[in-house]
Amino acid sequence: MIKNIVVVGGGTAGWMSACYLKATFGENVSVTVVESKNIPSIGVGEATFSTVRHFFQYLGLQEHEWMPECSATYKLAIRFENWREPGHHFYHPFERTRVVDGFPITDWWLKQRPSDRFDDDCFVIPALCEQLSSPRHLDGNIFEQREDRAGSGSEAVGRSTLTEQQTQFPYAYHFDTVLLAKFLTKYGTERGVAHVLDDVTRVALDERGWISHVDTAEHGELHGDLFIDCTGWRGLLINQALGEPFISYQDSLPNDRAVALRVPVEAATRGMRPCTTATAQDAGWIWTIPLFDRIGTGYVYASDYISPEEAEKTLREFVGPEAEGVEANHIKMRIGRTRNAWVNNCVGIGLSAGFVEPLESTGIFFIQNAIEQLVKHFPDATWNEGVRASYNGHMARMLDGVREFLVLHYYAAARQDNRYWKDTKTRPLPDGLAERIEQWRIKLPDSESIYPWYHGFEPYSYQAMLLGLGGVPLRSSAALGSMDGAAAGKTMRDIRDEARGLVATLPSQYEYFAHMRRPSSA
Ligand code: FAD
Repeated sequence: MIKNIVVVGGGTAGWMSACYLKATFGENVSVTVVESKNIPSIGVGEATFSTVRHFFQYLGLQEHEWMPECSATYKLAIRFENWREPGHHFYHPFERTRVVDGFPITDWWLKQRPSDRFDDDCFVIPALCEQLSSPRHLDGNIFEQREDRAGSGSEAVGRSTLTEQQTQFPYAYHFDTVLLAKFLTKYGTERGVAHVLDDVTRVALDERGWISHVDTAEHGELHGDLFIDCTGWRGLLINQALGEPFISYQDSLPNDRAVALRVPVEAATRGMRPCTTATAQDAGWIWTIPLFDRIGTGYVYASDYISPEEAEKTLREFVGPEAEGVEANHIKMRIGRTRNAWVNNCVGIGLSAGFVEPLESTGIFFIQNAIEQLVKHFPDATWNEGVRASYNGHMARMLDGVREFLVLHYYAAARQDNRYWKDTKTRPLPDGLAERIEQWRIKLPDSESIYPWYHGFEPYSYQAMLLGLGGVPLRSSAALGSMDGAAAGKTMRDIRDEARGLVATLPSQYEYFAHMRRPSSA
């Protein structure tokens, strides 16, 4: 049996992995995190995907226990600004499309177009984002959507099955990753994770090429059965020591840099919109993430089109006076994936395994999914090669699938006002995407026509993006022409009524968190 796991790296990936493995195996397996005092973690990565609640539930954590300590807020959607044209925005919500007479409401919307806002006609979440609402009432209950109660009810804490872990909730979180790593360090060490603050100076391989131990500067050799490489883009174990190659996605996703700012703004003096905002720019896009104690923001851009100095200047102008005196963090990004995330007795998790630009906030989603899959594929003393191949296949397809969805964002954006945006229409598309887009012009994406392996995104996400981005002409399914659309028209009116009712009864995010943070509510 595997008795001894060594996690190298103490960023988000290292601590999420260590805590999850400890929660799974308890005393039966020893887990050690070795983390450099000298090499900082990346320090960005504040928005998450809607499966993330399973992670906290799995650790047995309730929101009031960890959210205030990590400056966390709710995220119900991504608001895309200026991707179609200046001044235009739309929402990609965490909300499945309702189905009327066998067709999604988005398809009916294309036929009837009751307004020019598909998002307000088809989903309730955009109204909550506009009105800065919390998805929870002050008593802690989550808002209920009439036709999809999957995420409703009060928080259930406990282990969920892997199938359940692939279900989505109506919201995710924003949090400060540095504070989360601190929180998880305390959580993990209190439950028996050993913590070594030291630099790994060498990775020692045995005669088969498997990792026997790592050497540290001050703590000698650390031996293990299984090594988890969470050293970020260095890939100290998986890429450097084991020589596993990296497959770049740069040909289809050219954004290779980012500049980030941590902007202190009092929560009480600003609106806390419960969503991430992605605002298109001349050579990429700017993220805005409202945390409770500050705003996280940054410009993701392609260095072939703009210099780091210009990018920083654009970002500072975008943020305004609050950015004065705030130090900028310039980051070179490695976009793509390690060919096999698991080689011999080493599994890369986090940036070492792969990364795509954070347009759909998938970095932490990849980490969570990797740990869940590792537990599902956990090795025994035989180190079955088929199990490893199955894990590697799953991880590769998941990253490739997200790459395809992100490429669609650029290809389908109506914006074409400069060389950067014009080039997004002529760059080679990943295999299969061109055919899929052809189908979607006459039939909105469904579960049979989107990327066929699990990658987190469901047909509703594709539908929302195509309808919002506006660059691919779409038409409703031909069958709708011969059907009575009265029920669909009523559903769209009901959605707007329901949204109005929700914003009238839900507190604002600020009110909700101020209430949660009162000493008596813990
Ligand atoms: P790192 O944070 O780089 O941590 C590496 C760790 O390895 C550190 O603790 C370091 O000390 C340690 N280490 C390195 N070398 C050694 C050594 N020799 N010895 C010992 N320890 C060592 N993800 C999201 O989900 N949502 C987002 O909104 C999002 N935004 C992002 C924005 C940008 C611009 C970027 C670049 C990434 C973003 N991500 C986002 C991704 C997210 O930041 C990462 O997935 C996440 O932080 C995991 O990083 P990591 O732990 O793999 O690596």
